[in-house]
Amino acid sequence: MSKFWSPLVSELQPYVPGEQPKMANLIKLNTNENPFGPSPQVIEAIERELNDNLRLYPDPEGQALKEAIASFHDEIGIKPSQVFVGNGSDEVLAHIFQGLLKHERPILFPDISYSFYPVYCGLFQIESKVIPLTDSFEINPEDYRQPNGGIIFPNPNAPTGRYLGLEHVEAILQANPDTVVVVDEAYVDFGGTSAITLVHRYPNLLVCQTLSKARSLAGLRVGFAVGNEELIEALNRVKDSFNSYPLDRLALAGAVAAFEDKQWFEDSCNGVIRERERVSKGLENLGFEVLPSKANFVFARHPRRTGEDLAAHLRQQGIIVRHFKKPRISEFLRITIGTPDQNGALLKGLGKILEA
Ligand code: PMP
Repeated sequence: MSKFWSPLVSELQPYVPGEQPKMANLIKLNTNENPFGPSPQVIEAIERELNDNLRLYPDPEGQALKEAIASFHDEIGIKPSQVFVGNGSDEVLAHIFQGLLKHERPILFPDISYSFYPVYCGLFQIESKVIPLTDSFEINPEDYRQPNGGIIFPNPNAPTGRYLGLEHVEAILQANPDTVVVVDEAYVDFGGTSAITLVHRYPNLLVCQTLSKARSLAGLRVGFAVGNEELIEALNRVKDSFNSYPLDRLALAGAVAAFEDKQWFEDSCNGVIRERERVSKGLENLGFEVLPSKANFVFARHPRRTGEDLAAHLRQQGIIVRHFKKPRISEFLRITIGTPDQNGALLKGLGKILEA
């Protein structure tokens, strides 16, 4: 606390990001990065941009990236004017909260979901109501009714990894035609189906995605949203009142190349999915309950040990995973899917801990 702070800042409870350790040689399975790395075409595009153009301001609209995203979705017929781009989906979400989710009535989101949502509510003074997940940690679409307000949920959910089928997403959209419904699809490429396919039919739908996960570009900080032009215009207005150059030249060049290399993207997602199934089976063999996941992580608990205890023992072996000191989920570990070798080390490490 400081006398110089505004009351708003004094009351903020900022987001605490997952640990980014300073030591090398750790097996890092704690922040849902993709172990396979970005397409080599991304690196080449960034190198070209680095050599040629850093003297110049970037395109404030990021038009080339909007076109690349639209053309990646050409079967659905998305126009560049239906795309918004920003500095990681965290920043895109910040603009969404400010521009589209502040209404007279509280916004709704699941009680167990991305922990940045309550932080944005605090920062932008947005009232919220959390909706409990079911006993099996699923979103119940019938619980989401909020006329003239806002609704947001991750799909697949984080940190549970559970996926809500598109027919249920559609049920939420249909029941809330006057409410902005934001689907945060950071993890959708690992086996889910994107709600971007529904954008033409639901003017109240906004889908947010990131290049941090499936495209393995967490360090580049690129996220985007797709929706009807009226919603996108709100985000552009917020952006132009805040930071007119949200994406630098290297990020724009790399992100465009990432959308152009479809093969790398597909291979990378398939590699993660294959390993996720192997890790899930391995954990079950060790006695864990593993929630069905469509993300690049699994959420698992052991009947005899807490998440905190297991995470501490894994850390002694140089393996870091995530656990949350929150009601209902404190027994769980959230384990990012790594390379085959890393996953092998994780399973072996857990086996040793449980035998001891
Ligand atoms: N949404 C969800 C549900 C997430 O888990 C994350 C990753 N922490 C993000 C959004 C933000 O991702 P990024 O800012 O790297 O695009």
